[in-house]
Amino acid sequence: MASTTQIEVCSIGKKYGKFKALGDINLGIAEGEFLSLLGPSGSGKTTLLTLIGGYDAPSSGRLLFDGQDMTNWPAKQRGFGMVFQGYALFPHLTVAENIAFPLKVQKRSKAQIADRVAQMVEMVGLSGHEAKKPTALSGGQQQRVALARALAYEPKVLLLDEPFSALDKNLRGQMQEELRRLHRDLGTTFVFVTHDQEEALALSTHIAIFNHGELQQIGTPEEVYERPANRFTAEFLGDINLLSLDGSTGCLAETAIELPKTIAGQSHLAIRPEHMRLAADDDAIQLPVRLRDRVYLGSKSRLLLETSGGEELMLYLDNDPTDMRPGSELRVAWDARDSFAV
Ligand code: ATP
Repeated sequence: MASTTQIEVCSIGKKYGKFKALGDINLGIAEGEFLSLLGPSGSGKTTLLTLIGGYDAPSSGRLLFDGQDMTNWPAKQRGFGMVFQGYALFPHLTVAENIAFPLKVQKRSKAQIADRVAQMVEMVGLSGHEAKKPTALSGGQQQRVALARALAYEPKVLLLDEPFSALDKNLRGQMQEELRRLHRDLGTTFVFVTHDQEEALALSTHIAIFNHGELQQIGTPEEVYERPANRFTAEFLGDINLLSLDGSTGCLAETAIELPKTIAGQSHLAIRPEHMRLAADDDAIQLPVRLRDRVYLGSKSRLLLETSGGEELMLYLDNDPTDMRPGSELRVAWDARDSFAV
């Protein structure tokens, strides 16, 4: 996969009146990347996507495409494909006509259009549905038409704004699989807005995490999940156990458990539940806890625990020892390399 920077977001800011929707955003998107813009509602994801697409102008900063300043290029000149939250299909046109639409605008020949439409219909699994109107299609099928239409003229970049949010869970999973396949097969750069952490982790080659209009972190799914840059990212990306640190002793608060010097200046030690376990005798770290509750989940159990300082922890057990009752005194362990300070 090529790795040259295709899109550069340089000190981009966006204000709506006095309201700052985006701070000073800097990031690069490589050709062929699948970048998810992830964050809670109102964090500025759609705003950034809109600026990249050229549907609105930034208040400050520059956007580059293949090294050229595209800040003032209208959307049409950028020529990026766009798939929105709703399907935004033309209701009076058939599936084939919807997909053909951008090709007609580009004044391609009839033969070329027919070929390309047939190819796209097959690519998104809609063969046999060409003559149907959008209202005769399911939500998933409509979203496939929208994808086919956006990809029909082979844009270099496809922008997607929560395209699956209207679909039920099963269909959403199916469409995610298809989007992964399309991305793999086409090598087109995808920029994908979502507030769904699992979706971002499962689909992306890179994730940019936003909060209150500020970029919190950008990296591969593994990087942002395993090494969150700050507490917001750690908490936003999944369950996390947080233990207070005692700044004066360099130990976990209220314990004599010493931690590496790298914790200086941080208030908590963070450990994902899947990296925490019940301690064995030879574990270096042994943190005493009390069992508050045990939740049976079928293939595993979730233990809800409390430290002597009243901090809540969670871990998963594959086996479910029957002699464990709420109130039991236990010890938990983790490997130092799986913990990070936030
Ligand atoms: P969501 O997941 O809810 O779509 P988002 O992260 O995409 O959220 P944006 O749509 O980018 O967030 O909005 C960022 C902030 O800017 C929000 O507080 C929003 O209310 C505000 N905003 C967006 N568009 C406008 C506008 N046209 N005029 C005024 N404020 C706006």
